[in-house]
Amino acid sequence: MNELKRALAFVLCICVVVGFPGNLSAAGEAASGDSSPNASTDASAEAQVETTTTEVATTSIDATTEASSEATTEVPATEVKPTIKWKNKTESIKAGKSYTFKAVATGDDAVKYSVSNTNVATINQTSGKLKAKKVGKVTVTAKSGSLSVSVEVTVKAKKIICLDPGHSSSVAKGTEPIGPGSKTMKAKDNSGTCGNYTHVPEYKLTLTVAKKLRTTLISRGYKVVMTRNDNKKAISCIERAKVANKAKANAYLRIHADSIGSSAVRGMSMHYASTSNPYIGKKYGAANKKLSAAIKKGFVKATGSKVRGGGLNARNDLTGNNWAYVPTTLIEMGFMSNPTEDRLMQTAAYQKKMVKGMADGFDIYFGYK
Ligand SMILES: [Zn+2]
Repeated sequence: MNELKRALAFVLCICVVVGFPGNLSAAGEAASGDSSPNASTDASAEAQVETTTTEVATTSIDATTEASSEATTEVPATEVKPTIKWKNKTESIKAGKSYTFKAVATGDDAVKYSVSNTNVATINQTSGKLKAKKVGKVTVTAKSGSLSVSVEVTVKAKKIICLDPGHSSSVAKGTEPIGPGSKTMKAKDNSGTCGNYTHVPEYKLTLTVAKKLRTTLISRGYKVVMTRNDNKKAISCIERAKVANKAKANAYLRIHADSIGSSAVRGMSMHYASTSNPYIGKKYGAANKKLSAAIKKGFVKATGSKVRGGGLNARNDLTGNNWAYVPTTLIEMGFMSNPTEDRLMQTAAYQKKMVKGMADGFDIYFGYK
């Protein structure tokens, strides 16, 4: 009889354990559905489960205790969780610069590096060497197996450049002093010239080229500030210079195209305030000349343009140059009164060359090229 009782108890026990998952799910359903007609039945099933669970729990506590004591005594380092952490990292870098990130992982998997935006920066997957390309934010991640660490990196501009697309369809009215402290007055702006053959106004050409140049300069890691972004804004030469001053630009380029009575005259030229300029010569004259020479060099090389005269003209009469307290120059890209240059300057292909040339000029000026 004792054996029979033990056998019955064993069978009962098996039934409870086997029935356990079914009861549990029934209880779960009852809990979520208040209006179930089986609610009372389910409630009793729940009570049953509770009892069973207690038993199971007791057993599992024993098992855990055994397992953990085993781990302490018999299984050593293999169960230590692998880790990953940064050894070398930075949160800020200038465009054009490189930095080698390094993460150390204790697991078996090699560390692999990646970036969230390859337009902003690229990274060598194996060496962790990052190259910052243009202004923005990028997340650098080091991964080893399922582990990873990340850091957000800010790519800062290598330099700030102010671009001034000459003139506008809306011309600033009135006059302004030609330089700080000067009693000589000059028109705040004028409507500029117009293509004798293409009939495109200068202000449209200068804005088109300036916008393309901005895109190229940003892709090269510069920050670009524009004096105007559309053809409706009336802005005087002093106001344009103040945009460059306020931006604390490292260089300021005024973009223009030329015109003259003779259609035969052609060639690019630069116009700047030299060391002898009475307003800003002492402070910026040397930088202005260096910037002018650099832009000329880049421009001529990229476009094959002819150069008018020596191409470098020291001027004291340009209001927009005289009020600029940053290295400044003005480019006359070519003559809109010359049939070849007028038509050429309106083509996308030549604009691309002019833009490359001016961008190269900035790179030369800042020593990147
Ligand atoms: Zn002009």
